[in-house]
Amino acid sequence: MNRTVEELMEALREFIPEDRVTNNQTILEQHSKDESYHTPSLPDIVVFPTTTEEVSKVMKIANQYKVPVVPFGRGSSLEGHVIPYDHGITIDFSLMDKVLEVRENDFLVKVQPGVTRSQLNKELKKYGLFFSVDPGADATLGGMAATNASGTTSVKYGVMRDQVRDLEVVLADGTVIHTGNLAAKSSSGYHLNGLFVGSEGTLGCITELTLRVYGIPEYILAARATFPSIHDAVKAVVSILQAGIPIARVELVDEHSIKQVNMYSETNYKIRPTLFLEFHSNEAGLKQDVEFMKEIVAEHDCESIEFESDHAARNRLWKARHNLAYAYVHGYPGKKLMVTDVCLPISELAGAIEHARSALNSLGLTGGILGHVGDGNFHVLLMINMNDLDEIKRADQLNETIVMYALERGGTCTGEHGVGVGKQKYLEKEHGKALHVMEKIKQALDPHMILNPNKMIKMKEK
Ligand SMILES: Cc1cc2nc3c(=O)[nH]c(=O)nc-3n(C[C@H](O)[C@H](O)[C@H](O)COP(=O)(O)OP(=O)(O)OC[C@H]3O[C@@H](n4cnc5c(N)ncnc54)[C@H](O)[C@@H]3O)c2cc1C
Repeated sequence: MNRTVEELMEALREFIPEDRVTNNQTILEQHSKDESYHTPSLPDIVVFPTTTEEVSKVMKIANQYKVPVVPFGRGSSLEGHVIPYDHGITIDFSLMDKVLEVRENDFLVKVQPGVTRSQLNKELKKYGLFFSVDPGADATLGGMAATNASGTTSVKYGVMRDQVRDLEVVLADGTVIHTGNLAAKSSSGYHLNGLFVGSEGTLGCITELTLRVYGIPEYILAARATFPSIHDAVKAVVSILQAGIPIARVELVDEHSIKQVNMYSETNYKIRPTLFLEFHSNEAGLKQDVEFMKEIVAEHDCESIEFESDHAARNRLWKARHNLAYAYVHGYPGKKLMVTDVCLPISELAGAIEHARSALNSLGLTGGILGHVGDGNFHVLLMINMNDLDEIKRADQLNETIVMYALERGGTCTGEHGVGVGKQKYLEKEHGKALHVMEKIKQALDPHMILNPNKMIKMKEK
């Protein structure tokens, strides 16, 4: 940085009011970390823009003085994405939190990036609509697009990338572009929506999103099914999918995690490997799907199945599932969260989970296995003592062995959490020469490497 922090603050305050440009220590600390075990680092300045124009002007100044910029949504990411290791300016989008337009006849909504998924769903409910992507944290839609987030409903509705019709993006030099349009399909030009979704703030700042939304289904039925082993539960999922049952959610929670759920959410679920399921349909279709599903799970030694049709009971069930990571955090005070996150072809999933369980045991670590198993995506959730170097080393080893197992079988090192700094070392193995194409894209769009520098892509300025 060739300007002092004071000079930069002065330049920013020429177009953003004083109270929205700060180097207050508490606010810097709030923007120094994510929700994971990665080491914090302070930004120099945090700005809170309210318009695209302000974001564009911040980027112009940052580009002129080659100051690093980290876009910040809720800070709920898990691989060090928002930690400003190179310091500079953090742009916090929390004040850009307006639902701008609901086009109910087009099943589209236009929002600012700081809108959270629960805020959006509250608004959409008035129209009989909902937004499908639901990561465990109440993340912002800008952050969710930037990490290509997904959640429990992706098996039916798809991931964040499937929902984005258009993004307004401020590039590194302050130029404002749109990456798509409102049409359901297009063969016009490169797929910029696809490029910017999942770019983790390294290619531009998302300042507006146009997203697909869905009608709230006529009938919804949730269920909890327990099995003698994780293997039986996963095999049941594969059979359900192969049978073509249009399942809306299917989540695996192992015994250790069910214990945490019961303690945190005051539930009394059986401590067995469990599938949390949900079906969306009309009444007749749903009845048929559920009968077929019951036959299939019985073939996989399902021990019990309990249904929840009542709205409050379903909400309780999914709230318990969504709060699982927080249940671990609460259950292990003083420890830090480390979550593995791989995704494999569905036929490889049972083997991958068995491999992860045996690696967990042989490394002497305590953790739970859970995941969006309908997508072939699972996590091992570990609570790490950051003062125990040996434990950190064993946790890293576990992460590595799980990633390698997935990569060797055509999977990916991250199904949904993203790369940040934690998964950088696996990109070369996963992408080979395609990683150099990504580096070239980064260089073309951000030649001074100011946007979330050294996250995802590690590069030297030419
Ligand atoms: C308890 C818990 C459960 C979770 N469960 C899931 C899950 O089920 N599925 C899942 O996918 N993730 C999950 N996550 C991870 C996290 O919630 C997601 O990565 C989320 O998408 C991040 O959103 P955020 O608003 O917190 O973004 P942040 O963490 O603030 O930022 C994430 C990345 O996006 C960039 N970014 C943020 N806003 C913008 C913007 N406007 N323009 C450009 N770049 C931007 C940042 O620079 C950063 O690289 C979970 C996290 C926790 C703590």
